[in-house]
Parts: sequence; C-alpha cells; structure tokens
Amino acid sequence: MEIQLDPAVLADKVRDVPDYPKPGVVFKDVTPLLGDHVSFSTAVDWLVTRFGRGTVDKVVGIEARGFILAAPVAYHFGAGFVPARKTGKLPGETVSVTYELEYGHETLELHRDAIAPGERVLIVDDVLATGGTAAATVGLVEQLGGQVVGLGFLIELGFLEGAKRLTHDHVSLLTY
Ligand code: 5GP
Repeated sequence: MEIQLDPAVLADKVRDVPDYPKPGVVFKDVTPLLGDHVSFSTAVDWLVTRFGRGTVDKVVGIEARGFILAAPVAYHFGAGFVPARKTGKLPGETVSVTYELEYGHETLELHRDAIAPGERVLIVDDVLATGGTAAATVGLVEQLGGQVVGLGFLIELGFLEGAKRLTHDHVSLLTY
C-alpha cells in the first residue's frame, strides 16, 4: 500500500486547545483529523503500513480515543481488537494496573482472556505524552503473556520524553 502522506496537511487538522483540561496545558485535539475522512483514512493506513500484515494477532486500543484508531487498524490486519479500559468498565474478569499521572493516578484494565500467551500485540493510542499510559498498557499485555510487537500513535509530544518509558519499538505520525 502506497500512502501519499503530507504530514503538514494532517498537522493542520490537529487543533491546539489552550488551558485544557487544566490551566497551562495545551491539549492536542484530534477530533478535526478524525472528522475529515481523508485525514482519518490516511492516518489509519499509515499505522497499518508501519507494521506488516500478518504480524499482529491483536490490536489493543487505549480508552477512549485509542479505540477509534485501533479498531480500523485491527480490521485492516485481520486481527482482533482489544479495549484497554478505565477501571470498572469491563464486565468480565480483568487484570489491572494503576499508574501515576502528573496529578493523581489512573487504572487501566484488560479482560484476562483477551490475549492468549504468545499472541503478537500492537498497542495503539492517539497521543504519547509522558508515556505512563502506554507503559502501563505494555505491562498489562505482558502480564497476560502477550508479545508486544510495537506501539503506534498519531501524535507524540516529544518534549515530554514519553519514548524513554517505552521498552518496545514505537511509531508516531506527528511529533511535536
Ligand atoms: P501519558 O500517559 O503519555 O502522559 O498520556 C497519554 C494519554 O493521555 C493518552 O491516552 C492520551 O489520549 C491522553 N492525552 C494526553 N495529552 C493529550 C493531548 O494533548 N491530546 C490528546 N488528544 N490526548 C492526550
């Protein structure tokens, strides 16, 4: 698949929202990118081409915007989709991890039977910021015996150095 990718065009579809969710933070809002069908499909196709078809058994999407990207990537791969959810949202037996945020903490869960030992797993989210969320998700997948083949993001906030917390290959479509 040949992707005609102009990062500047996609970057134009990411909106900076100052002081959200709290004063001093500039939030990267990806909803304009998702809402433009060319940008959305280009972003999904780009993620798919970074990892080869047939190399992934499961694609884990991180709640909530990671779901939007991970599901079409899984469809392209012929892989299963697995949601990593905030605490208390999954009805079955789960494994969970609690990790520190800049202020406070967060808990993520996977269904215990969502990933079988040895399955090859790609983790997808919209933004890599400090890396805590992604690193916690890697830990959950590995707790279930899954083999993380990589992580894919739309956006990497490079100045927060989240990549330093990742122990596997990752790709980011746009880096700030
Ligand atoms: P981290 O754990 O890497 O600090 O934060 C990443 C998580 O927070 C991701 O799940 C992502 O959705 C969310 N996040 C953090 N900053 C932003 C941002 O500026 N824009 C968006 N869309 N999500 C963000």
